[in-house]
Amino acid sequence: MKILVSACLLGVKCRYDGGAKPDARVSALADEHELVPVCPEKLGGLESPREPSEISGGRVFGRDGRDLTEKFELGARRTLEAARRAGCRCAVLKERSPSCGSSSVYDGSFSGRVVPGAGLAAALLMADGVKVFSEETIDGLFETEEFKNESNRDAQQ
Ligand code: SF4
Repeated sequence: MKILVSACLLGVKCRYDGGAKPDARVSALADEHELVPVCPEKLGGLESPREPSEISGGRVFGRDGRDLTEKFELGARRTLEAARRAGCRCAVLKERSPSCGSSSVYDGSFSGRVVPGAGLAAALLMADGVKVFSEETIDGLFETEEFKNESNRDAQQ
C-alpha cells in the first residue's frame, strides 16, 4: 500500500538543522510498500537549514520570534494534497515536529519541553481521516485494517 512518510525519516536532509533522522524500521517499510516521502516545511517554502520552530498558542514561531504560521499552513495543505494525489490513507511522520508530530510537540518555549499535541500537517491529515503514526508509534500501523488487508492480499497471491 502507499504510505506517506516524513522525508527526514528516510534519510533526506530536510530538517531545520540541515540533517536527517533516518529510521531503519520506517525505511524497511519500503520492502513491501510504496513510500511517498514529504517534508511539509519544505513544501511550505522553508529552506534547510532554517530556524527551529515551535507551536505556541496555535501559531508557529521561529526561535527568532518570526511568525511562520502561514508557511506551516501552506506546507500542511500541500502535504494533504500529496496524500490525496497518491492515495495514502496511512502515514508515518516524525514525532514532536511542529509539522509532523502526531502525539506530541515541543511546548513553544524552546526549552526541550514536550506537550501532547500534533503538528499542523499531521493534524490536517488526521482531520481528513488519514491514520497518522510516528517512528515511535509505528506498531500501530501494523494493526490498521489497511495494513492487514494488504498483508492478506499479498499472502493470497
Ligand atoms: Fe522531517 Fe517533517 Fe520536519 Fe520535514 S517537516 S524535516 S519531514 S519532521
